[in-house]
Amino acid sequence: MQTDLTGWVVWKLQFAAAPLMTREVFGNIPESSQRIFYGIACLSLLVFGGGVFRRIRYWKMGKPSTSSFSWRALVRRFIKEIITQKRVLGRKTVGIAHVLLFSGFVILGMGTTLIGIEHWSADLLGREADQPVFHFGWYYLIYEFVLDTFGLALLIGCVLFMKRRWSRPSSLGHHPSDWIVLISFLCIGVSGYLVESLRILHHPSPADAASFIGRTGAMFLSSLNVDSASAGKLHFGIWWGHSLLSFSFIAGFPFTRLFHAIAGMVNILCWDKEMGSMTPITLEELEETGKTGVETPGDFTRRQLIELDSCVSCGRCEEACPAFEAGKPLSPKKLVQDIRATVPTAYESVNLKEGNGHPPCIAGNAVKDETLWSCTTCSACVQVCPLNVNPLGMITDLRRFLIGEGKLRGSAANALQKIQLSGNPWGMPQQERFHWAEGLEVPTAKDNPKFEVLYWVGCAASYDRRVSKVARAMVQLMKTAKVNFAVLGKEERCNGESSRRMGDEFAFQESALGNIETLTRYQVKKIVTHCPHCLNTFQKDYPQFGGEYEVVHHSVFLDELVASGKLRVPNSPSETQNKTTGYHDPCYLARVNGITEEPRKLLKIKTSEKNGNDCGVIELPRNRKQTACCGAGGGRMWFDDSPEQRIGGSRCREVNETGVDQLGTSCPFCLIMMKDGLASIDSEVVVKDVAEILLEKVSNDSADAQP
Ligand code: SF4
Ligand code: SF4
Repeated sequence: MQTDLTGWVVWKLQFAAAPLMTREVFGNIPESSQRIFYGIACLSLLVFGGGVFRRIRYWKMGKPSTSSFSWRALVRRFIKEIITQKRVLGRKTVGIAHVLLFSGFVILGMGTTLIGIEHWSADLLGREADQPVFHFGWYYLIYEFVLDTFGLALLIGCVLFMKRRWSRPSSLGHHPSDWIVLISFLCIGVSGYLVESLRILHHPSPADAASFIGRTGAMFLSSLNVDSASAGKLHFGIWWGHSLLSFSFIAGFPFTRLFHAIAGMVNILCWDKEMGSMTPITLEELEETGKTGVETPGDFTRRQLIELDSCVSCGRCEEACPAFEAGKPLSPKKLVQDIRATVPTAYESVNLKEGNGHPPCIAGNAVKDETLWSCTTCSACVQVCPLNVNPLGMITDLRRFLIGEGKLRGSAANALQKIQLSGNPWGMPQQERFHWAEGLEVPTAKDNPKFEVLYWVGCAASYDRRVSKVARAMVQLMKTAKVNFAVLGKEERCNGESSRRMGDEFAFQESALGNIETLTRYQVKKIVTHCPHCLNTFQKDYPQFGGEYEVVHHSVFLDELVASGKLRVPNSPSETQNKTTGYHDPCYLARVNGITEEPRKLLKIKTSEKNGNDCGVIELPRNRKQTACCGAGGGRMWFDDSPEQRIGGSRCREVNETGVDQLGTSCPFCLIMMKDGLASIDSEVVVKDVAEILLEKVSNDSADAQP
């Protein structure tokens, strides 16, 4: 005890003289070894640089990315995304493991660089070994303490990742090199501590207390009777082992999955996550290349090629993908990896320009056509990817190529043809487009040119008997609230959303330009629609062709009418409110456009911690932005799947198991898919649009209600 106290007092006294605290850089390492050390360091950096340069040359093979660059956005993303590691933090153990490994790697890397700077500057200034430039005193003590702490973080993170890899979750991509990377990390960390412990044992100093792990290791080695002289010899040998391992690691960095740290950082720093938008193709491009979309890796943009290098096969996209869940031949993770594997071959064939002929065509070879057609464009993969990879963007680009080659057959191809010939995917006559409004006296833009709001009805409500009831409910609600609105009636045509998501870009552009002409003629400023797909296409696709409008989803619009008192909903529960109601969030409304609360407000949902509330409305297990796809988006609506094969099957079972009486939703596609899917499993759950449920609730005494 007394010895401890004396030791502490001595330490305190020495600590007060902190400027004297330091250690010799390269202590116990002869000069000749130091020279060889720097030689190998340069070599490993050269290999590292060559590897990075090789990947950058691959990236440059792609088309220039169109989005603009901003330093301010880059700094914002660096703080928001990289420093906080927020994209991985929500993932419990994996998130913690990543933060520990990442922080350990960065801090140890910075520490090694600082010690290198100290050594070079001391050399430049002609200092003796015991005359450090800045590596002494308080700085030195903090330096040693921080490095020991983050070395531990790196080791713990590494062990957690090894444990995960050992348990082999099916969604996680496996490659033998992943084990090599993790074992290298572990060996570098452990050998680093061993070098430190042997140094302390060989040449102890009062400042060693700051290196708390190295000091503990030295005490342990001492208890094994390792004396100072043997520690010196061992230190020299293990120091070389540690150095060679570290240099091999640096040299191999661009050739392993670790390269995601560079590619992913570029991808996150330079671009925001984009959901729901697509890049147009121009006729000039078509004339120049003779093709639409992506045939070979060189047709991708540079950003997309960087995305391919960013993917770490973490499997989050696969876990979130509804097509994969339904057993369709689509895993976004595998798709990205399969495309990535084609890049070097494509690069060689582009550069050698001989022998190999044409670079490999991706669709139909590396990626099967059925894989591409299985996507519902729900954006779940884009949302969950921690590295900003957009598998959906690749899918739609590859679909564009397939469409250009005439490789889509069957019911979906028929739907595309019908859109072009009849102005709707049902192939119904344009003359019948306004039949849904029979008996309601709905004003058209022609009859009421001074309208304030254009109600976009869409093809589903115009031709599907069930969905037409949603449009009728909307009209009744708007009349009740005395909204000055109009519809286009027979002048409305499909807005081309399905065509674009299926890859028929020029059919979409034809639809868009036709509709923009009509909307311009009627000087439309504000559009209300009950379809999230129409909402998304008016908001994100039409401005690319000059169609700029204020676009509002009907749930938001109706919520505003209720909030302003133009629509009155009774407080006491009505007959329909005795039914338990669930709400299904449509992908294009919740995930892609972030609208989650307004429909709930209309249903009077007050989410409680108990997953239920006094209004008898309950939350489904997957809700809001983490919703589950109904399976109709991206043109899947037009594929002839039997109910058992449909992508929304698991969502229907989930709804049925919650025991709700009725299911509210706010998308015509979801309405149709959930209704059919629930019927196919003999469920008695009734599916309704929020407008229909609201209409049932709205007080009859709302001024001048009209039938
Ligand atoms: S695309 Fe993103 S989420 Fe999917 S495996 Fe790659 S890194 Fe993970
Ligand atoms: S958009 Fe949806 S369906 Fe398509 S790959 Fe991504 S998660 Fe799967």
